[in-house]
Amino acid sequence: MSNEITLDAVCPNCGFHQEVQYWGSVNSDLNPELKVRLMEGELNSYTCRQCSEVIQLGVATLYHDMTRAYMIYLLHDQEQHKQAEKDLAGFIAMLPHYRFRFVDQEIHLIEKIRIFEDDLDDRVVELIKMLILNQVLEAGQSPNLVLYSGSSEAEGESTCDFIVRFQDHSERFQVSLKDSYEPLRQEFKEALERDELNKRWLRVDSDYLLTLV
Ligand SMILES: [Zn+2]
Repeated sequence: MSNEITLDAVCPNCGFHQEVQYWGSVNSDLNPELKVRLMEGELNSYTCRQCSEVIQLGVATLYHDMTRAYMIYLLHDQEQHKQAEKDLAGFIAMLPHYRFRFVDQEIHLIEKIRIFEDDLDDRVVELIKMLILNQVLEAGQSPNLVLYSGSSEAEGESTCDFIVRFQDHSERFQVSLKDSYEPLRQEFKEALERDELNKRWLRVDSDYLLTLV
């Protein structure tokens, strides 16, 4: 199910109080319209009635895809982690075949949904992001962010696409599914399968990659 919560919000711009609703959990199978709003970055935000500022609520959001069998928990800080903790073990016990992920920013929630919808392993995608980051750093540039942006077809070949954001511009990187993603997945196959036996909520980031090698 999806779960709507009412909150007394204070506008950080003008101090105006108003009652707003937000979604504490989103089930993409039951409420595809909420998923559309999420993917457009418009799910848990509101417009102040007094000053018209658009405010991101920064609330904890649990995303649940029953068809692809995964949950992603968007938890912005330690406090939200603490509040969510008692539910987490319960989900693992109830849904042992699921993938469970943590993210701490909405942009990474959207990224992860894209990765899973393209039937990719987010751990391999994270490896590719690290390789791209190294390549960019070696070229003497310092990016702010590397993000998976989707898959596409180029000259009859499937690619995984990435956006690298710099201070004043962004660049697109395309990586071959057949020549880069698949060989990497094969190389780490054993470690990835072994890790799957250890059912837990995972934050898949560069620290996680160190546990694989
Ligand atoms: Zn306001």
